[in-house]
Amino acid sequence: MALIVQKYGGTSVGSTERIQAVAEKVKKYHDAGNQVVVVVSAMSGETNRLIALAEEITPRPSAREMDVLLSTGEQVTIALLSMALHHLGVDARSYTGGQVHIRTDSAHSKARILDIDGERVKADLEAGRVVVVAGFQGTDENGNITTLGRGGSDTTAVAMAAALNADECQIFTDVDGVYTTDPRVEPKARKLDRITFEEMLELASSGSKVLQIRSVEFAGKYNVPLRVLSSFEEGEGTLITLEEEDVEKAKISGIAFSRDEAKLTIRGVPDHPGVAYQILGPIGEANIEVDMIVQNIGKDGTTDFTFTVHRNDLANALDILRRTADELGAREVEADDRIVKIALVGVGMRSHAAIASNMFKALAKEQINIQMISTSEIKVSVIVDEKYLELGVRTLHEAFGLDKIEA
Ligand code: ADP
Ligand code: ASP
Ligand code: MG
Repeated sequence: MALIVQKYGGTSVGSTERIQAVAEKVKKYHDAGNQVVVVVSAMSGETNRLIALAEEITPRPSAREMDVLLSTGEQVTIALLSMALHHLGVDARSYTGGQVHIRTDSAHSKARILDIDGERVKADLEAGRVVVVAGFQGTDENGNITTLGRGGSDTTAVAMAAALNADECQIFTDVDGVYTTDPRVEPKARKLDRITFEEMLELASSGSKVLQIRSVEFAGKYNVPLRVLSSFEEGEGTLITLEEEDVEKAKISGIAFSRDEAKLTIRGVPDHPGVAYQILGPIGEANIEVDMIVQNIGKDGTTDFTFTVHRNDLANALDILRRTADELGAREVEADDRIVKIALVGVGMRSHAAIASNMFKALAKEQINIQMISTSEIKVSVIVDEKYLELGVRTLHEAFGLDKIEA
């Protein structure tokens, strides 16, 4: 007998028919003698619908009320899935995040899970019940409802699996595993049987939305066996593993990209110690995450400074940067939200020197201009004009031999 945590994403529970199909799947695992905890997302499109409703009322809804609103999406699914299980003769109970004590900090819309009290869930499992938990939500120490950020149900599932010491955490979605890149952009993308936590983390943090970043962090930290599978078809999916040796010896495992980028530049800043801090300090204080940073070599006592933020944060960051520019006596401030980031990821990079230059060569051949570059031990990322996203991804996919071999 095993304890399995399964998570079904929005598309997988997108209609009552789909919810019934999920119930059949869950029943099969349960009938086989396993203890099953199911974490579900809101039905597909529901979270976006709720966001749009709030926008109809006010452009700046209260963060607290926004979380009260968004958490209802998942609450609908847990009730419907439990009913579907009952209909199949399976004893099941649904719980919201707060009811199973998923305690988070108070950062509304991007809360972090602090701890989970698994006792209630365990008691139900012992009694032979399937436990259905609403993903994406928790409560803070004062009982306020919080949400975990887009894609947060993945993190609920992994955190549940860690708290319950589950044998496996299975993420069921609308693709049958983790691919070398998003198969919607490159149909020649290949499914990976295995990938390391480290690589998955870099892919997720560079924009591969198949798993939320925090879910991968959590799984790595608590050593939760994690698998991505299709809810529509049978298969082994992709196992996220600790051991590098098991992973195919490819130099590059995957290509991630993100359309959520925006770039800010401040020109003609007096070049003296502390400028970087003066520019980025206020941005950080406003809780805006900065990704890539480039400072040019100073000339004639001034320098230029460019950095990227999430597109949603651009307006705020620009306001702040304009104020900083006035204070510093900088020449001008520019913003560009028509950029994207493309990242090559692979643990094999450690032992292969020419990856970055081969990447730049391949992009140059297609006349794709690189605006910014950043590297880490197992990743090379570039910022390019958004019109080059598809071309860039496909070019690199082919250049690094990731295309699937046609049978
Ligand atoms: P869910 O609603 O089940 O959480 P998501 O839409 O969040 O599903 O994640 C699945 C999607 O992630 C896929 O449909 C695919 O378009 C996208 N995706 C991006 N990068 C990858 C990748 N490397 N491998 C597989 N899917 C990817
Ligand atoms: N419903 C939330 C979202 O759309 C959480 C999730 O699906 O993981 O982002
Ligand atoms: Mg998701």
